[in-house]
Order: sequence, then structure tokens, then C-alpha cells
Amino acid sequence: MFPSLAALGGTLGLLGLREPDLVGSALVGNLNQGYQRHIDSCPVDYAALMRDPRTGLPSGPIAKLAGDPLTANVALVGGGIANIIAAFELSRIGIRCTVFEAGDRLGGRLSSYRTPSLKAWSELGANRFPRGGLMWHYVAQWVRAAGFSPEKDEISAGTFPSPGTVPTMLGYQGEAYDWGPGPEELPPIVREARALFADFIAGLNDGAAEPQTMYFADAVAMLKEKPDDTTTWRLKGFWDLMLQQYDGRSFAGVLETEVFATGSNPPDLMAVFGTLGVGTGGFGHLYDAAFLEVLRVLLWDVSEEFMLPEEDTYPELFGYEEGGTWGFAMALARAAVDEARAFFPGLEFGDMFKLSSTVVRITSEGHGTPGVVVEVEAPGTGMIADYVIVGATTRAMQSLQLDLPYPGNPLLTPLPDMSTDLVRPSCRAAIKRLDVVSGSRMTTQLMSPRIYGPWPTDGEGRKILCFVTDERARLAYVLKEVPALGGLVRLTAADTYGADADKLRPLMPWMRQDAVVASFSYGLNDYGGGGDGAAKPMADLLKRSEAVDSDFGAIFGVQGAFKVDKPGDDYFSSSLFYHYQLAHARNELQGTDVFLSGDSVGHLGGWVEGAAMSAINAVVGVCSRMGERFDHYVVVADRFAALLENDVRLFHRWEDISGRSPSKAGLSSMVRLGNWSGDPALPARCRYRGITTGQAFTKITVSKSGDFAVVVIDDQLWFKPPGASWADLYRIPGTAGFTNVQSISVATEKQNPEAQLLVVNGDGKLWHATFQAGVWSEFRRPWANLTLKQAALDLEGGNAQVLVIDHSDRLGHGIRSVTREWSLLPQWLLSPSGDPWLFFVRDAAVSCTGLDQDLTTVAAIDRATGTVFVAIRDGHVPGWRPWTELSSPRPPDAEEPLRAVKVRAVVLDDENNAQVWAQFSDGTTTPARLYSSARDTSDPSDQTWTTFQPVPYPLSGAAGPIVDFAPTLPHGVLDPDLPHLSTVVYAQIGATLAADVPVPTLLGGQ
Ligand SMILES: Cc1cc2nc3c(=O)[nH]c(=O)nc-3n(C[C@H](O)[C@H](O)[C@H](O)COP(=O)(O)OP(=O)(O)OC[C@H]3O[C@@H](n4cnc5c(N)ncnc54)[C@H](O)[C@@H]3O)c2cc1C
Repeated sequence: MFPSLAALGGTLGLLGLREPDLVGSALVGNLNQGYQRHIDSCPVDYAALMRDPRTGLPSGPIAKLAGDPLTANVALVGGGIANIIAAFELSRIGIRCTVFEAGDRLGGRLSSYRTPSLKAWSELGANRFPRGGLMWHYVAQWVRAAGFSPEKDEISAGTFPSPGTVPTMLGYQGEAYDWGPGPEELPPIVREARALFADFIAGLNDGAAEPQTMYFADAVAMLKEKPDDTTTWRLKGFWDLMLQQYDGRSFAGVLETEVFATGSNPPDLMAVFGTLGVGTGGFGHLYDAAFLEVLRVLLWDVSEEFMLPEEDTYPELFGYEEGGTWGFAMALARAAVDEARAFFPGLEFGDMFKLSSTVVRITSEGHGTPGVVVEVEAPGTGMIADYVIVGATTRAMQSLQLDLPYPGNPLLTPLPDMSTDLVRPSCRAAIKRLDVVSGSRMTTQLMSPRIYGPWPTDGEGRKILCFVTDERARLAYVLKEVPALGGLVRLTAADTYGADADKLRPLMPWMRQDAVVASFSYGLNDYGGGGDGAAKPMADLLKRSEAVDSDFGAIFGVQGAFKVDKPGDDYFSSSLFYHYQLAHARNELQGTDVFLSGDSVGHLGGWVEGAAMSAINAVVGVCSRMGERFDHYVVVADRFAALLENDVRLFHRWEDISGRSPSKAGLSSMVRLGNWSGDPALPARCRYRGITTGQAFTKITVSKSGDFAVVVIDDQLWFKPPGASWADLYRIPGTAGFTNVQSISVATEKQNPEAQLLVVNGDGKLWHATFQAGVWSEFRRPWANLTLKQAALDLEGGNAQVLVIDHSDRLGHGIRSVTREWSLLPQWLLSPSGDPWLFFVRDAAVSCTGLDQDLTTVAAIDRATGTVFVAIRDGHVPGWRPWTELSSPRPPDAEEPLRAVKVRAVVLDDENNAQVWAQFSDGTTTPARLYSSARDTSDPSDQTWTTFQPVPYPLSGAAGPIVDFAPTLPHGVLDPDLPHLSTVVYAQIGATLAADVPVPTLLGGQ
């Protein structure tokens, strides 16, 4: 449970736009209506996707089988709600699944407890669920399966007693205060903290000019509308700006600098907000969380939270002696078995759900062989599955070594170049990085509170149902009074997270209970028990009750309460949330059949809603993959196309390069890759895609088309094939011998579905490989006698043109013909003075057009003078004509003291125009700026180049050394204003940037 933002009246309540909702209860059917999108995936309303838009009833299954329901099976590791939902949805399709659960009960963090002596259930885990979304969709299914109509019958869910929505008492510095609803007597500093926070949130907006400005409250309202393109793009624009401004920043950092800095007493405001939140049981444990995480939940507007229907009111729903949220999980599991029986008659519950079955290892059978081996602790109970969905926290995933390249038997050495990795590198990094917070809960059931005196009331004589203190126990609430059970009161006595939970964990049970009693007594001004302070009856009862507590940090398979993003984690959460989309981009060498689910796999850690969304994603991923492999044996229903399309990935904002700043947590390097969609209709900042990664890239090369990339990480070469996400990289086989790689260059061409790669290894040897039909060739060595520093490659019409620079800084040119032989040895290019030995080249780039135009441009920098020289070669293969003389595009009388730093690219278009981009240092404020120069080559006699013009890349102010920057243009397009820029690569290596250092935005003004 995230701190109760409902206590702020939800977002609209916080902003003063709505009174706290005191509905008391709502029909389950009503809770499963309306629209509810989430800001991170705003094109899609998950719950609406699962409903028939006309009837509101569940629509058909996620996918359909085209054949017999026997071919494939899925193993699900973990029997929490995510995998129960996944099992339910797979069963509806007719796909056989087996769920392995380590514990002796299903439900995971849906954990209900019943003391033997009493009859009501208490919740140790999730217990409040905001209106709308997938959670209430499945609750409605359950209610329906029990024979009721959730819309018509009186099956209702009660409001959760969030602070401020029920009569609440606040203990602050030993004094007790009334805290709403209605008249409040909060200390001034608490009110000030709330007002400053509300003002700040209200002011957040998308930067559009008035009256079009979209403020935070507008975004909240839009998320509750039916998705359409306009609102989706506007929400995307709004969130992009939030990401730009706040990614990498902690909640505390933003509070300190932007919220409380102008307050009466900033340190006190920080302290009061941290201990009480705005009265929630403490925002403090979120202080080091990402500010975006808080914004995300505020955008969701958790203003009305409900508890599940209860067994004492609706015994029909819990016909199996199973109550609370656990009872709901069990009911859904049984429904999954019922669904599966339609395809597999005679299937028993135990056939699908295997309890006390800890999965100890998951291994891939190996290169090209489908199937994943799931080993279970109890011998002989594992299985070989076609697909696996691991549904657990990232910590539990780490226990399964999913964060390592070769999980499983440490003695099993994979064959060279064979990947047995179960999950993609981006997922491994995310699993390693995303962590969970501690959390513990003490619950109890109290009989006849009247015995110990009158229950405390507020100034208006209403029973206090919620107690909040600035002491260790933080929060207590009365979930329910059950008159039918002799006045039984269900009370959660301590709801603690983060350090508060850590402080209680090591105490012996009776000490924990004492600590909770003491902190409420003192926190509510009744320390010592002698007085008649307001909370005395509650404390007295608690002292005498049989309390049960649970710390999820100590439970194998969970190992914490839930994921909360730290600053800079957003990218990693997105990597996990969208990992299923890459199912269709299977590459035989690197394919993985392991999918992930759970609330850690996405942006709503700590909410069942996030776990449910991830389950839908995983099922869609499995089905789409299964469809690919088994020749459309499974076909994903059309309405889920949006979940698989690139469109959704476009919204994957960590693929968005606009204005990301690295986190203090220290990305030691980062690479940004962006695609420019070129669609002028889109708002400017929606037009990029790209990634940021914490891995230490040292070299990068991107093809002209922008969709093929090769990077060097730790002397290993990885590539991004066309169509794959930037977030996913695949290892290139056969690169084990490379060390200290000096240069890489990749090229693709329109006509030929292949890529070619040149690598200059640390020893100066040149290697070449091609990538065709999803397979890399072996690396071979053209011109074995050369020792080189750099090689640049371009392709056209099957010919490769190569520029090399050797250790004497000579510039050479060679071709590899369509016959695939390296037919010419490098032809050394002459310097303007005609002497190859006097022309010392520091950097060079090459570009060529097709056989019909047969034009090659090379650009090089003279090391001594820093001057850029360009030569054009015009002729037909095999009769190459001589090169034009290298000439400088810069007029000799130019005054600006330009010194080239690097030749970035040369471009030829279909009209034979040439352009060269170089990065110059002008020695003043901008250490490195990009300039371009062009010439019209249609008239061979006219060799005039335009003066270098600055290209609007505000690389100025870049923090850390820029080691590579490679803009490329798509073939056939040449425009000095770069509207058609296809790919931008920007890498910063080795610089741990301080928090909040903005990385320069690529493309000025965008
Ligand atoms: C104290 C607390 C309060 C919360 N309050 C709320 C709330 O009010 N509202 C809300 O929406 N959400 C709340 N949540 C979050 C919610 O409980 C979770 O988001 C949700 O239950 C997660 O479900 P899951 O399936 O992803 O994971 P889990 O419930 O953790 O299930 C994973 C299962 O996998 C099993 N497992 C792990 N490893 C293995 C293995 N190797 N082999 C076999 N089995 C394995 C585990 O035993 C576990 O049962 C709360 C969580 C906590 C801890």
C-alpha cells in the first residue's frame, strides 16, 4: 500500500476541486465501469479492453486457438494475483498452464488471516482498491461466477477508512488533533505543508500557452475519459514534460527545492510532511523515491478506495471457507480451473495449482531448441514448458538468477556464442536495479470495546475510525465493526513501511505489540496509560488483543513489500513493463520464452492494478510468440493489437530522448538513441524515440536507416536489429576475441536486407561480418596485412565502400564488390599537396550512392590543421575514376576559428548533392558544435562547398565528454534544417553526473 493519497482527498480533493468521497459503499458493478487510464500507458484502458463496450460484460478471451488445445503449455512461477489472472486468461483461451507456488497457499501478497478464536478475516497485505481498473473487473467476474449480477444485486464494497475520509485523530508531537472530515483542528504547520504541496501540484502543466494550458487536474480528468488520439497525445505531451523536468529527482529533492523552499520554516515543513505525509501514515519512507512515482499515483487519483465485499455480509461469495482478499484470489483460481475444464475435461485444481512447489531454477534448453526447463525443489515435480511467466517481485526474480546472463547450473558453461539467457539484457538490468521497500502490518480483532470505556469520538461526537501519529506505528484504522459478532472490531494497528518496518522487524512479537501500543499511546497524548487520553481505549484493547503481524521482507518469494521506483528507475520499470512487446521480434540466437509479471513489472508497484496489467501483457506476449512459432496456432484478438503495436512503444517514454537527466544513483554512462518520426502533425516533443541505459557503452554505430545499431559493451559487441526496440540488444556471436575495440562501423541499404559490420580491434586488425536473414556470418579479415586505427563503411548496390586510417594516419579507400570478395586493396588517398605521407588524418567518414549514380564522398580531418577535407569519387564499377582532390568546404578567408573535432557523417542524396557534417570547437563558449556544409554535385565542374553552417544541436553545455555522436540521414533525403533526421545517437561515457544535471536536449528548441 502506497501512502494513502486518498487522505488528501485524492488529487482533486488535494487541489480543492472535490470534497473527500464518503460514499460508504458502492455496488461492485459500478466500480467496474467508466474509464481509467494510466499515464505511462495512456493509449490503452486495460479494463475497457477486457469489457464488451456494449454490455459491460467480459469480452472474449485474449486470443483464440486455431487448432487443438494441446500443443503448448505454459508454466507460471508464483501463485500471486498476477499469475492467477494470467492462468485465468490462458485457460479461457484453452492454453494449458501449471502454476508453481512456493508457499502453502495461493495469493501471495493478497494475504488474509483469521484468528482461530474469531470469525472475521484480517488483511496483512493489500486491502484497498481504487475505483475502476482491472481489479474491479475481476472482482465483478467473481461476483458473477457466484451467481450474482454485480450491477443489480446488492453486492457492494465498503469504502476504505483512509485518514481524513473517516473521523480521524492525528497525534503530532504528543498532542492529539481532530482531522476531518469536516471541521479540522490541524496544527498550522500541517495545514501549511498541505497547502504548499497542493499549490505546487496544481501549478504543474504541459507548458502550452493559455488558454490551451493543460494543468495537472486536467490531466487527471482526461485519464478518466474514453481514450482517443487527441487526449492521448496531450497526456503524452504532459507526461513527457514531467519526465523532462523530474526524472532523476527524488521526492525529497523536489519538496525541498520547489515546494517548501518558500514556506515559513522549510526544515520543519519537510519534517512534518515526512512523518505525517499530509496525514497518511508518513510520506517519509517515500522521500528517496522518485518524484515521478508520487506524481503517477496522484494522476491516477486514488481518491476513492474500496475494500472487497466481506464474508460476514456476503457468505455466498466465500463458499469455500476462504475469506478476504485471499478468498478472492482462491475464487479466481478456481474459476481458472473451471475455464480450463472446458478444454481439458477432468482437470483438477491440484493439476493446475501446485502449492509448496518452490521453483529453484529455470533454464533454457539451449540454442534454437524451444522449451524452458522449470526445476522445482521437490524432485520430479518440475516440467519442461514451452513458455514461462515468472510472477514475483524483482527480489524473488533475483533469487531465480533471472538477473544473470546464464541462470541455472553454474557448472553449465554455454557453448561459445550460444545464448541461454532467459531474459533480455534490458530486463536483467531492470531486475537488478528495481528494488522493493520494506513493509509490515499488525492487525488484530477486538471484542466489545465498550468494556474498556467509551470509544474515542471527535468534536462532533463521531467515532474515530482512523489514528495517525508521528510515532513508529504510524497508522491504525478500524476496518469494520461487526455487531453480529458481538461488537467485534477489525483493526489494523500498525501499517508501516520502509525504515519504520525495519525498526519493528527484529523485535520479538510481544515487544512489537508493546512498541505499537506505546507509540499510539504517546502519539495520542496518553503515554503511561494513566490519563484518559483520546486513544486510551484503543491502546488498552490492543494491549489485550491477539495481534497478528506480518513482514513481507521475511517471506521467501516476496522479500519485501513492493517496488517503489528510485530516481532514475523509470526507464527500468518501462523496460519490464514493455518487455512482452518484443515477443514477436524473436531472434533464434537470442530468443527467450520467459515472460515476467507482477507489480514489479511496470509502473504501479504496490498496487494489484499494476500486477494485473502486467499479467495481461504477459499473456498477450506469450500468445503472440506462440502464434509466431506454431504457425498461427494462436491468434491474438484484434482488440489487443494496440498492446503489441509499436504505437504503444512510442509511448514508452524511456524511449523518448527529450530531456532526460541521469540519476545521482549513478549511471556511469548513458547512450541515447532517438528516432525522428518526421511527422510534422505530431507535437514536437512526441517525435523521438530512444533509450537510456546504465550499461557502459564505449562505442556505437548506427546505420543510415537508423534502425540497425551496434554497440560495444565490455568488449562484447551487441546489436539492435531492425524492428527491435532500442531497449533490447542482442549479442553478436563470435566476438569473444575482441579487446579494446577501436572502431566499429555498420551499414545497411534499402535494396538489400543485410547489414555489414567492420570492426577495428585493439590490435589494429580489421574484421568484417555480415548479418543476413537473422544470422551473423563469421568474422573475416580483409587486408590482413594492414594495421588500422579506424574504418568507416557504407553500402550501396551490394558494394561496400570502406575508408581506413592506418597507424601512420594515412587515409585509404577500398571496396568490396557484389561478388563478396574484397577486390581492391586500400587505395591511399592523396593529401591536397599530393603526398599521402604528409596527410595525417584524424577522423573520416564515407558515404556512397548506388551503382547508377556511383558517387562516393569521403570526409577527413587533417590532424595538423583541423581542417575538414572532402573528396568526391565519381565513376562506375569496375572502372573507378580518380578521386577529386580533397578540398576544404570552408572558404580560406573564413574568420571564425573553427577546429574540427570530428567528422560526423557525410551524406549523399539521390540528386547527387553532398553534405558533410563535422563537429567543431570554436574555442569559446561551445566546446563542440556541429556544422554542416553542402555542395551540388550535379555539375562536376562546380566543386564549391557552402560555408559550414551550425547545425541546431545544442551540444553546448554537455556534461562530460562526448565520445560519439552520429547523426545519420535516411537515404535520399538531404535537408540542412534536418527535418528528416532519422537517428541521433548521443553517448556520454564514464561520467557520473550529479543529480539534476540536465543532459542537453537534442535539436534546439524541441
Ligand atoms: C503490506 C502491503 C500492503 C499492500 N496494500 C495494497 C493495497 O492496499 N492495494 C493494492 O492494490 N495493493 C496493495 N499491495 C500490493 C499488492 O499486494 C501487490 O501488488 C500484489 O498482491 C502483487 O501480486 P503479485 O502476483 O505480483 O506478487 P505476489 O503476491 O508477491 O505473488 C508472487 C508469488 O510468487 C511466489 N514465488 C516467488 N518466487 C517463487 C519461486 N521461486 N517458486 C515458486 N513460487 C515463487 C511467492 O511465494 C508469491 O506467492 C500491498 C502490498 C503489501 C505488501
